[in-house]
Amino acid sequence: MRATARATGAQCVAPPAPFPVSPRREPVCRKASPGRAGARMVWGMSPKLRRELDGIPTYKPGRPPAVEEGVTAYKLSSNENPYAPLPGVLEAATAAAENFNRYPDMACTALHAELAHRFGVPEEHIATGTGSVGVAQQLLQSTAGPGDEVIYAWRSFEAYPIITQITGAASVRVPLDAGETHDLDAMAAAITDRTRLIFVCNPNNPTGTVVRREALERFLDRVPPDVLVVLDEAYKEFIRDPEVPDGVEVYRDRPNVAVLRTFSKAYGLAGLRVGFAIAHEPVAAALRKTAVPFGVSQLAQDAAVASLRAEAALLERVDALVGERTRVFDRLTAQGWTVPETHANFVWLRLGERTTDFAAACERAGVTVRPFAGEGVRITVGEEAANDVLIRTAEAFRKEL
Ligand SMILES: *Cc1c(COP(=O)(O)O)cnc(C)c1O
Repeated sequence: MRATARATGAQCVAPPAPFPVSPRREPVCRKASPGRAGARMVWGMSPKLRRELDGIPTYKPGRPPAVEEGVTAYKLSSNENPYAPLPGVLEAATAAAENFNRYPDMACTALHAELAHRFGVPEEHIATGTGSVGVAQQLLQSTAGPGDEVIYAWRSFEAYPIITQITGAASVRVPLDAGETHDLDAMAAAITDRTRLIFVCNPNNPTGTVVRREALERFLDRVPPDVLVVLDEAYKEFIRDPEVPDGVEVYRDRPNVAVLRTFSKAYGLAGLRVGFAIAHEPVAAALRKTAVPFGVSQLAQDAAVASLRAEAALLERVDALVGERTRVFDRLTAQGWTVPETHANFVWLRLGERTTDFAAACERAGVTVRPFAGEGVRITVGEEAANDVLIRTAEAFRKEL
């Protein structure tokens, strides 16, 4: 086609339009005609999909706030930062938006340089992706496949089973201990020749509990050097306990440790999808190979760089949330609830059979929380007014128990 076009002198590329063009399109969502549907039934054929996909649980995103007349609604279901973007960050993203007809910098050069400087690590040890969930998926693609095993605590981050199953590897779930904390001894005991990757979610989502330095080091000493340990530190910035190790310090002399961080929580960029790993070669190199080309948008890259430069202002907001966390924790405890000590921007109530009732009561009062039916409710610490509603609702619910 192209050769013909050139031979005839026709132009393949449209000349720049004198004004912005919005291409008119035919509607793309047409209902299938009866004839087509009939053909499908006759043949009963569909593309062959990988067996590993059967039964993959679907990720349940935190519900948006319910809209009810006369009730202010708050979303406390996704552990987001409730505050609007900082001015400098918003400007960086807005400026980047002016060029979104262009592909982003695939190597994320500026962001990697900023992160390397911020953490004092070589640039080659940084890998970015579409949220840290995206990077976690790349870590799995890089290490595990059918016949392999991936260990994680349970209950923990609900993306782990999903992204593990996609690779075809088997999930090995090790129950949290009585204090809702990772049982690192049991996790070490679960390691076999087939183990390829172990997630340690610190603090743990959804319980907010942590593993401390000594216990983590002891565990890491027991993990064979050819098994990758991923320290998922999505809530790192909310930790105030000095005994909780910084994964970036832990990784330095351990080639089989990778640290996962995100801009989605404390940094308030959940909607822009950017997270990163810090890992030694060859793990970092594997992350570059498994990355979706151009996966991190320029908006996300520029906003992330601006966020790192505005870190002081950002972390002030995190401090405010930590203050609110203490208030929520203290009030709930005073009401008689058993709340595991939380080091993240959420609290966990193990409500068992009352879980869905509690979530419904919260929703009626104007706060949407994250129920795990039959187990418990994870409640994000939000702005003061939202937390007030939660505290009042929890108190009323408790009285009826
Ligand atoms: C929210 C969260 C993430 C990060 O998700 P992004 O993909 O970066 O938005 C990762 N791990 C845990 C445990 C989380 O709770």
